Amino acid sequence: MDEAFFKRLLDSMADGVYFVDAQRRITFWNKAAERISGYTAREVLGKSCADNLLRHVDESGRELCVEGCPVAAVIRDGRMREAQVYMHHKLGHRVPVVVRATALRNDAGRILGAVEIFHAAFEKVDMLQEIQKLRKEVLTDPLTGVGNRRYAEIRLQECQKDERAYGVSYGVLLVDIDHLKAVNDTWGHGVGDKVLRMVAGVLDSTVRSLDMACRWGGEEFVVLCRNTTADGLRALAERLRMLIEKSWLDHLGNRIAVTVSIGGAVSRPGETAEAVVERADKQLYRSKTEGRNRVSLET
Ligand code: GH3
Ligand code: MG
Ligand code: MG
Repeated sequence: MDEAFFKRLLDSMADGVYFVDAQRRITFWNKAAERISGYTAREVLGKSCADNLLRHVDESGRELCVEGCPVAAVIRDGRMREAQVYMHHKLGHRVPVVVRATALRNDAGRILGAVEIFHAAFEKVDMLQEIQKLRKEVLTDPLTGVGNRRYAEIRLQECQKDERAYGVSYGVLLVDIDHLKAVNDTWGHGVGDKVLRMVAGVLDSTVRSLDMACRWGGEEFVVLCRNTTADGLRALAERLRMLIEKSWLDHLGNRIAVTVSIGGAVSRPGETAEAVVERADKQLYRSKTEGRNRVSLET
């Protein structure tokens, strides 16, 4: 591979990369370095990085070019340095960056210069992303990937608020896998887990975008259905029951299939979310005692 290839490779990186020789003169400056600092390669090549150019300062405002330049230290002892600094941007302002400087050696191991890699340290953006990631982790069921009980409860409260404020009724379905214990006992817990994922997959892919399926606990799921009637809820429940009955997974040449029992209830004006769930649970119990693989709704 030729030099042009490596140049393109470095230019395609999101991180700023530059090389300095032993006299701290800049000999390479990639595209990301141009973007982050505002200086083009033409403006900096051949200049010393201490030449009133980047003039990193640390948190206390200390000018690193004058005292404690990480690149100079690396060239001196060959040890890698990492620091969070504020880089001077061509337009004048300071850009917070994380820099890492490592020694560049020739085949004989002699230090020829240093390479500095830096990226913009937008702490606030990172923090938001981190919060979103944590929120997702906290509200997702790790086994099935659907929302967990906590998430279901948050959404239930939202449904109830809308019901109170605008009179929009909502439906709750409790979906319990029939005889999952027998699947575990016969095929092992791992297969039981796959069955849980399969059922979650059917629920998640069948409900409308406004509705949602969450894992309520153990082998039980809850489906929340906004703005629905008893007839609409029953039709959805019946479709879910049928699709699960017709789903199966292969385990060592065996078809593993399960059925579900479903209980449902539609909210009444002024009713608490807990009360709606309780009514749905009574209907689920009815489906179980009347033979399983069926839907019961309070009429
Ligand atoms: P029923 O038709 O009465 O609901 O029978 P069932 O066996 O499904 O219900 P039961 O309440 O007697 O037992 C629940 C079973 O669900 C036993 C338990 O091991 C299984 N289960 C609960 N959570 C998980 C899980 O995360 N993974 C697996 N593999 N099994 C689970
Ligand atoms: Mg069960
Ligand atoms: Mg159960």
